[in-house]
Amino acid sequence: MSDLEVFERYPGRPIDRDTIAFFRGLLERRLLVNRCGDCGRLHQPPGPVCPACWSDDVSPTEVSGRGTVHSFSRPVVVVDLDEGVRATATIVNCDEPRIGMPVRLTWIERDGAPVPAFEPAR
Ligand SMILES: [Zn+2]
Repeated sequence: MSDLEVFERYPGRPIDRDTIAFFRGLLERRLLVNRCGDCGRLHQPPGPVCPACWSDDVSPTEVSGRGTVHSFSRPVVVVDLDEGVRATATIVNCDEPRIGMPVRLTWIERDGAPVPAFEPAR
């Protein structure tokens, strides 16, 4: 998939050299987080260097999308992923989100392109 196609599918989104892998992942319905090859830490948002050790050996790594709700402001939840980083997305299939609730990743379509969402884990 060309860079241009990624731009076309997510118009107006902050796509640049550091974030294009993340958006390409969305098109494949994979949630990617940068992992540092030197210290092994995951970090968000995507950047060219590891904020913990300044290594530039960072590469997008797929995460499970499982985690628990850290906070919410409907319809958006901030989720502590099992991998130790936070992700923010819309919550679906849930009338009453609550802090600490286990959730899992799902996908919704927005303007014809997949975007991540969370739903209660059952
Ligand atoms: Zn590092």
